[in-house]
Amino acid sequence: MVNWSPVVVPLRKRAPWVQVVGHAGNFQVGSDGKLLKKYCASEQQCLQQLMDDVLRPFVPAYYGVTRRDEQDYNLMDDLLSFFDSPCIMDCKMGSRDFIGQADTFGDLLGGGTQESAEASSAPERHVREDGSGGSRAPTLEEKDQQAVLKTRYMQWRETLSSTATLGFRIEGIKKSDGTCNTNFKRTKYKEEVAQVLNDFVDSNVMLMRSYQQRLKELRLILEKSDFFKTHEVVGSSLLFVHDRSGRSGVWMIDFGKTMPMPPPLTLDHRSPWMEGNREDGYLWGLDNFISILTDLLSE
Ligand code: ATP
Ligand code: MG
Ligand code: MG
Repeated sequence: MVNWSPVVVPLRKRAPWVQVVGHAGNFQVGSDGKLLKKYCASEQQCLQQLMDDVLRPFVPAYYGVTRRDEQDYNLMDDLLSFFDSPCIMDCKMGSRDFIGQADTFGDLLGGGTQESAEASSAPERHVREDGSGGSRAPTLEEKDQQAVLKTRYMQWRETLSSTATLGFRIEGIKKSDGTCNTNFKRTKYKEEVAQVLNDFVDSNVMLMRSYQQRLKELRLILEKSDFFKTHEVVGSSLLFVHDRSGRSGVWMIDFGKTMPMPPPLTLDHRSPWMEGNREDGYLWGLDNFISILTDLLSE
């Protein structure tokens, strides 16, 4: 007689998708571990090109545009789908957060965030103090003035966090227990950032080492990538994900403000930004990130 017991294949537990930062209304959860992000043409261009670039393993796989409830979306892999109750960190890379000379305050106003509230009060007050505000439409000269104010305002805002001093900043962290912290706007110094990173991995040296390893691999590939050479990468993040099993990964996300350079211009991503050179400080930030992890590991 054959004695057998049925083999029970456990269904893979799919944790619900969670979002760390960004506008909540921009995403929909798709089927088969996919994610829909509200359509943005420049992001589509980037994701499409990245599928044919050496960076492909470092970005969510992209499946084109899809339509749901009369809204277009970019369809991509949900990077969390391979994890069980993951810890997630979003780090915005680069030494600036705006695209060259800002045009007007339009994109900062009405966003409902604290930042947009700050943006709408500080420089607008300036304009009114100049006697050029009020109810009539702004003149071209006033718009130019506003653009200068916005650039200055955004440069100032970046000096509050580690963006200007380290070339990246922590945007938000979601732990496996569901707690979320997005209050890092004034986390500025190396020591403070190191403390947050150490907390994120619960002082787990193995995890720290695997993140360090993955970032070093990413740096090597970035230095070879044609896409990276020819794009100004602003407002893009690295998404760090790990779970209890010790699995971890880092991916590049958010290419809405990533712009192609006019050929034959290229960027080195390490030179300081000066008006007109379009350098974004991405690799400088990554160098600093890796060195902070390396310091933590040698403590
Ligand atoms: P913002 O421009 O304000 O940063 P956004 O609307 O462009 O926001 P993203 O930055 O792309 O949105 O993403 C916001 C959050 O959504 C990320 O911090 C991350 O938690 C989650 N997210 C984005 N893309 C993915 C993905 N492919 N897989 C899993 N999670 C993702
Ligand atoms: Mg983002
Ligand atoms: Mg974005």
